[in-house]
Amino acid sequence: MNLLESQLSYPFGDDIPEPGTVHELASGLRWLRMPLPFALDHINLWLLDDRAGDRAGYALVDCGAGTDATRAAWEQVIAGPMDGRPLLRVFATHCHPDHVGLSGWLCERFAAPFWTSAAEFGFARMMAAALPGVDGPSAIPHFQRHGLLDAGLLEQMQSRRNYYPSLVPAVPPSYTRLQDGQRVKMAGREWRVITGFGHSPEHVSLYAEEGRILISGDMVLPRISTNVSVFAVEPEGDPLTQYLASLDKFADLPEDTLVLPSHGKPFRGLHVRIQQLRAHHAARLEEVRAACAEPRSAVDIVPLMFRRQLDGHQLSFAIGEALAHLHALWYAGILTRVTGADGVIRFGLA
Ligand SMILES: [Zn+2]
Repeated sequence: MNLLESQLSYPFGDDIPEPGTVHELASGLRWLRMPLPFALDHINLWLLDDRAGDRAGYALVDCGAGTDATRAAWEQVIAGPMDGRPLLRVFATHCHPDHVGLSGWLCERFAAPFWTSAAEFGFARMMAAALPGVDGPSAIPHFQRHGLLDAGLLEQMQSRRNYYPSLVPAVPPSYTRLQDGQRVKMAGREWRVITGFGHSPEHVSLYAEEGRILISGDMVLPRISTNVSVFAVEPEGDPLTQYLASLDKFADLPEDTLVLPSHGKPFRGLHVRIQQLRAHHAARLEEVRAACAEPRSAVDIVPLMFRRQLDGHQLSFAIGEALAHLHALWYAGILTRVTGADGVIRFGLA
């Protein structure tokens, strides 16, 4: 446990559910964990008691990636802990592949409706179809503009063409829309939708007053900071400013809120964690600002922010994250943005 984590409390300790099993955290609320084929090797899902008319079953929040390992774990959950009862609704906090990967498979299997926000639904559909703008090749000119000139690395990026569809075989063709402030009944509690921005287009977190429980998705994680990136599809975006503003929407929740994050362990210490995240980004912004005393591209900034060796997959997120910090400073009027004769965009002090 690192120093920052020691300021949080983990009420369930290191008691983590194995894939294929469930842990009951509160009445009608269960924790599942599914494997992921990345350095970040797991995602947490939440299975809640639910009713549809006189049918008793479950509402599921997030699905796991469309891999054989996750399907096998789901078969175990369906055959065992679900006790023969069906999924009645499938929720997605956002469109990333670990969250919506098996949504099509699960919704079809149980004839369950899919609930998410409009922007997350639209992006999931676009990316599953690998439409131009959100596919691997569209990212190449974006990375080149921001200083990535290494042919080998560009080739690696290009080969990420099927990254999303390979993890998300199908997204349901229709959905039920969730909007900020909406209330949803599950597990005998009323949950309020809190939308957030900067990590994904319209991320859905769910807060229950009764029991003071927050399903935070990827907006607040205990151990790692949420990825906040400028992507090719929205090259003028300012996601870091949006993300930091979105954290304000959790400000009125009680200090002892039980936070259920998509990665890491359930924890208490929401406001401490939000303070840590703000301090982290403030320090990063200051480092990036100082580095721009000489004009720098996003690729120039990456080794400053990420001191370890990165593979092509990690590098694409690292460039996006460097750009998010550069854009926040640029929109705040602290940096200027100039395209050089070589076609590379560089940021300098205003
Ligand atoms: Zn995510």
